[in-house]
Amino acid sequence: MLGLMQHHPLLISSLLVHAERHHGAQEVVSRRLEGDIHRTTYRELAARARRMAKAMQALGVGGGERVATLAWNGYRHLELYYAVSGMGAVLHTLNPRLHPDQVVWIADHAEDQVLCFDLTFLPLVEAVAARLKTVRHFVLMADRSHMPAATKIPNLQCYEDLIDAQDDAYEWPVFDEQRASSLCYTSGTTGNPKGVLYSHRSTVLHAFGAALPDALNCSSRDAILPVVPMFHVNAWSLPYVACMTGAKLVFPGAGLDGKSLHELFESEGVTVSAGVPTVWQGLLAYVEANGLGFSTMKRTIIGGSACPPAMIRAFQETYGVHVLHAWGMTEMSPLGTVCSFRNKHLAMSEAERLALQTKQGQAIYGVDMKIVDGNGAEIPWDGQTSGELLVKGPWIVQQYFKGDGGNPLVDGWFPTGDVATIDADGYMQITDRAKDVIKSGGEWIGSIDLENIAMAHPGVAMAACIAAPHPKWDERPLLVVMKKPNAMVTKEELLAFYEGKIAKWWLPDDVVFVDAIPLGATGKMQKNKLREQFKGHVLPTI
Ligand code: AMP
Repeated sequence: MLGLMQHHPLLISSLLVHAERHHGAQEVVSRRLEGDIHRTTYRELAARARRMAKAMQALGVGGGERVATLAWNGYRHLELYYAVSGMGAVLHTLNPRLHPDQVVWIADHAEDQVLCFDLTFLPLVEAVAARLKTVRHFVLMADRSHMPAATKIPNLQCYEDLIDAQDDAYEWPVFDEQRASSLCYTSGTTGNPKGVLYSHRSTVLHAFGAALPDALNCSSRDAILPVVPMFHVNAWSLPYVACMTGAKLVFPGAGLDGKSLHELFESEGVTVSAGVPTVWQGLLAYVEANGLGFSTMKRTIIGGSACPPAMIRAFQETYGVHVLHAWGMTEMSPLGTVCSFRNKHLAMSEAERLALQTKQGQAIYGVDMKIVDGNGAEIPWDGQTSGELLVKGPWIVQQYFKGDGGNPLVDGWFPTGDVATIDADGYMQITDRAKDVIKSGGEWIGSIDLENIAMAHPGVAMAACIAAPHPKWDERPLLVVMKKPNAMVTKEELLAFYEGKIAKWWLPDDVVFVDAIPLGATGKMQKNKLREQFKGHVLPTI
């Protein structure tokens, strides 16, 4: 017997319709590339998104066709999020931080038909336009006064002209919720990037899961500033969560430096933010150097790479901003776990709670996870034994775009490539990426632990721990350190800093100081580059 309830497909357009009808006056504020602060509401934004959907149709974009963006976080990008997916086409968020050759490769692979881009990326698009095989229309996300007088880009259109040419009389089409809505490529540190093709259903379900109190805990009382770019896994779904909950949205545009971010946090009463640790490092340094604080920020979601405990402490103890350590990946839309507290944790000491927060946390509803040994057998949840982490759920990839890489699943589970422990309460902790694990004499050393300790040293700005070849142990840890400006820290001092904090055999064999640690297009340390750089490094023999 079937249930007798209404059937409404879970479509992305329904999020915007909800925001327009029930939170129509809620604000969307953007720092624009034009230099000003732009203010709009969900009501106005929804009307413009409908006009943009009609404009896309007028450009000949059909169902399932890809419309790419090269854009910062801003209201026009949000309009495209809803216009493109809402009309039944697929929004493909390109990462502008990639090498131009990679941008071309990915746009070709995705067969993008239209490319919408921010002013900042005009030179990039001019450089690659002739090489893009499938793009028929280029759209500059600006008004007429910002259009270039002359350009090499064929068929360049003005975003505001496209909107002006349409009215907002448009009904969002209703279709199967399993249809593709957006496309995002993995970073491809090994081999070519692979496309993860989200559906309307997976996106809406993920937004439900992400908004929950033990996840990102968002509501209509919040003002959310996603620092995480809309070109990185849909800004961790915050553009959808905001419409679902009726929260205010604040977009930083290209202003991701500490000063610009801090100004916006304060002027717009931001309560929640989200980003990778490297961004917060810049913000914290600025706030500290200028003796500032946060008057409205309640919590910040930190993920994308392990959040060093020193950063959690700085946010919580110095500035009263609660840290939610989260883990996920492009293949997971991205959210998998969030480290929120249970009742029993509230009675713990600060130090115990901080230790808990270094973990990536508990699975949100919709995500199941397990850890397995080398033979694929499940490992107990003892918080000690580590193994490869596998996940499954309705917003986790089943197959990559165009079938690239074959069937990624193992008995219905997606292997994340992360190595983790899970404790008896189900709190997961990443110890490493499988490819970053240091294998010393047949035992694994987790590089994240070693990095976290180094980053707690006051003289260290950033630290990466990589495997260096060793004649006896196969591999031993080599610590690569970027000092804070003017810090006077030595190798001996750093090694002594580890004393009592780890098992003796985990101690790095050597420390090297560098001017900069290479960061990838999503702000993660590129350990493959460091391994390449230090592949001939000879460890001192003891
Ligand atoms: P991406 O698909 O580019 O978002 O990268 C996903 C990968 O980032 C994961 O598989 C992890 O290796 C890493 N990652 C994400 N969040 C965390 C976290 N909180 N701690 C450690 N690693 C993380």
